[in-house]
Amino acid sequence: RYDVAIVGAGQAGAQAAISLRQGGFTGSIALIGDEPAPPYERPPLSKDYLAGEKPFERMLLRPEAFWAERNVTLRLNTRITAVDAAKHELTSASGESIGYGQLVWATGGSPRALPVPGGDLAGVHVIRTRADVDALRDEVAGAERIAIIGGGYIGLEAAAVLRKLGKQVVLLEALERVLARVAGKAVSLFYEHEHRAQGVDIRTGVRLVELLGENGRVRAVGFGPGVEELPCDIVIVGIGIVPSVGPLAIAGADTDNGVQVDEHCRTSLPDVFAIGDCARHANSYAGGDRIRLESVQNAVDQAKVAAAAILGAPVAYKAVPWFWSNQYDLRLQTVGLSTGHDATISRGDPATRSFSLIYLQGGRVIALDCINAARDYAQGRALVDAGLVADPKLLADPAVPLKSLMP
Ligand code: FAD
Repeated sequence: RYDVAIVGAGQAGAQAAISLRQGGFTGSIALIGDEPAPPYERPPLSKDYLAGEKPFERMLLRPEAFWAERNVTLRLNTRITAVDAAKHELTSASGESIGYGQLVWATGGSPRALPVPGGDLAGVHVIRTRADVDALRDEVAGAERIAIIGGGYIGLEAAAVLRKLGKQVVLLEALERVLARVAGKAVSLFYEHEHRAQGVDIRTGVRLVELLGENGRVRAVGFGPGVEELPCDIVIVGIGIVPSVGPLAIAGADTDNGVQVDEHCRTSLPDVFAIGDCARHANSYAGGDRIRLESVQNAVDQAKVAAAAILGAPVAYKAVPWFWSNQYDLRLQTVGLSTGHDATISRGDPATRSFSLIYLQGGRVIALDCINAARDYAQGRALVDAGLVADPKLLADPAVPLKSLMP
């Protein structure tokens, strides 16, 4: 039995263990994960690790020896399949029982499967774990034509890397523009333009019909409108994740696209917390809506919140959301959440490849997407935090520092 069992040894789970020890927790901690490697950061998976430019060792969140030094029992290759909330007991895939005093559920999610025939053909890849990318990299070397399904951040980042590697890349997006769910139109159009200029064949408003195979291996994507077939050697699917909350749901936790948590990351089950990609929480930067956030920021900050509650000094979750994405020489940094915006202001000219899009709701600044504009990002955070109402002309003028608009 462990005083605290953390299920999921990823970004959030690792941070929970770190924060517990930093906060002086002296009880026993188990960090239980189903992957073979110690906790590592995922963002490089679709960026420099895919490009072969970053060794895996440099992605480890802490050196391997750290966990034993901090008396954290790291249990890798261990998948938890059941939770008994009344008995405070976990069951692993191998049938072992593991008791806990308090449980932190930090399992992230698994890639959403393609809802069309052919999704299980050889040559069809996802990008979520190191193993996924190792398998992809093995095949990229001998491939010429790569089809990417999904124009979200991961698909676009992979497209950028694969173009740099000299591959032919087609990217299919079901909606009318890439990044449609997370960014305003000006940002979407900017990225479409950049990718096309780099040679990516971007098709939007596309309905995927099937993946066609030969001898069990993908050879083409079939899509509409009309029926078009594009030959390819590899398909990469990046259409989002399904939060991994099955065992908690069966144990009786409130779940609905993730597990519901309160402001202290407590689930509806006694002594069970949930954090990171799998935790559905009310977010004040989304107007109090219940959302899941898939970001390093949210994983780290929710881990700190759960640790604080376990340490007996609870603080409510209210961190400002932030995120980044690297594509080619473009560094996007975002702060706040743009969902629910009713107006946008362009600050700077996209043609210069350095600009920001400011999102407003009822005149208040709620988010910024800053592209090669680190100063706007650094200074914009305070505006989002304050929900500032400012003169749109001043917001739009790159010569006016954002911080000068703060009262
Ligand atoms: P994860 O890091 O996914 O960790 C969950 C762990 O739990 C995994 O190891 C999983 O295998 C394990 N697990 C699942 N179920 C079980 C079980 N039943 N038993 C045991 N173990 C289990 N965020 C940014 O902010 N910026 C970026 O640029 C960015 N880029 C990204 C690029 C890629 C390719 C990906 C995949 C993600 C990216 N993210 C980025 C998102 C960020 O990495 C995630 O939000 C973050 O990793 C979430 O942390 P987590 O601990 O909730 O989940």
